[in-house]
Amino acid sequence: MPDLRDLLRVRPGSLRLAGVDPRGTPGLPPKRVIGKDPKAWSRTEVATISGELGVHQEKLFASAKQGDTRQRVLLVLQAMDCGGKDGTVRNVTAGMSPTGMKAVSFGPPSEQEKQHDFLWRIRAALPTAGYVGVFNRSHYEDVLVARVHELVGEDVWTHRYDEINEFEAEQAADGLTIVKVMLHISREEQKKRLLQRLDDPTKHWKYNPGDLAERARWDDYQQAYADALNRCSTAVAPWYVVPGDRKWYRNWAVATLLRKAFAELDPQYPKADFDVDEQRAALVAAP
Ligand code: AMP
Ligand code: MG
Repeated sequence: MPDLRDLLRVRPGSLRLAGVDPRGTPGLPPKRVIGKDPKAWSRTEVATISGELGVHQEKLFASAKQGDTRQRVLLVLQAMDCGGKDGTVRNVTAGMSPTGMKAVSFGPPSEQEKQHDFLWRIRAALPTAGYVGVFNRSHYEDVLVARVHELVGEDVWTHRYDEINEFEAEQAADGLTIVKVMLHISREEQKKRLLQRLDDPTKHWKYNPGDLAERARWDDYQQAYADALNRCSTAVAPWYVVPGDRKWYRNWAVATLLRKAFAELDPQYPKADFDVDEQRAALVAAP
């Protein structure tokens, strides 16, 4: 089976989002493995992978506790409204321990945050050694919404791609494994999901009347996304585009991308820094 990362990775400069089918399912195992019910297959598979991620995460946490590693992992999720960021986090991280996790959502910058460089709040939110971080939106908003809504001048946002690449390279050199995923949904799917939110009083809190104005700028956002992904998909921090209309595929793909990243990192439980036999003998001998 081909490596999913090769199928979904953005080759700098060559991505056209219109050429990626949001209903696509690249890299799945053959039908005979999946069977007749892809949703059920995905549920089981994602739970299994998430459990594996939990084991990796514990090893990472344990090795950092002993103080002998700077390793840490960051999943960056970007998507249009209703793209499935929350659902992905819920499914993929279900097997991880909250103790070793740091999930952060980014909204419009606060007054305090606005006093600083756009990467200031991002640096502060990065996972420290041993932690797995999840960014629900990220510094990429500063070349997406900031560009589409002209929150800063073109002279400012055009520099940000290089600033982001430098920042990510510096973090990668300092032990950060970065997995950046854009959940790619279709315009029709977004409409369907927005309507579902309106139809369900328990989802109204997720709906924002401003979402319609954002939706009206769909094409501008797609262009801003394509530019960001083309300019900031680097060897140390590649971008992946995951088709997002089918939630079961999306969950499986993101879980699988993380599994590959962790397998390469291969964190290990640290060796005890005390004499295990001596401790056991002392414990047994004690009342
Ligand atoms: P939600 O993820 O639905 O809670 O919405 C968060 C909102 O915050 C979105 O409309 C984003 O566009 C907005 N947002 C996130 N980061 C920034 C930023 N750096 N500048 C301006 N708006 C932002
Ligand atoms: Mg929203």
